[in-house]
Amino acid sequence: MQDITGGCLCGAIRYAIAARPIGGGFCHCRDCQYLSGGTPASVIGFPRKAFRLTKGEPRAYWSTSDRNARVARLFCADCGTRISALNESNPETIPISVGSLDDPSAFTPMAHIWTASAQPWHHIDPSIPCFEADAV
Ligand SMILES: [Zn+2]
Ligand SMILES: [Zn+2]
Repeated sequence: MQDITGGCLCGAIRYAIAARPIGGGFCHCRDCQYLSGGTPASVIGFPRKAFRLTKGEPRAYWSTSDRNARVARLFCADCGTRISALNESNPETIPISVGSLDDPSAFTPMAHIWTASAQPWHHIDPSIPCFEADAV
């Protein structure tokens, strides 16, 4: 199996993942809206142990989610590209920002989460499940 690869806009950070995705979808939480521009963040999950950085080191910004979990958002300090996150309540999974994949078209959205925070002007595709908070 070939690694799934990606990185940031400026090329300072590169990564490889030796696993198939274990899920993915759209996060409408307010925190993600700051990073995405207001629309949901598109996130694809992988087993964390299959992820490795091949170039550079992202910077981390820590905050506390609405469920009181400590969450780090990892991004390129040079160009600002959002790479991944670390949710301390689910450390085995690494959510990868779909836009950082070399081939974002491989993404299959399976759910919307935190739809209670979605902006009223954002059209939510009703063909996949919606959760007002997170899906766990
Ligand atoms: Zn960069
Ligand atoms: Zn979010």
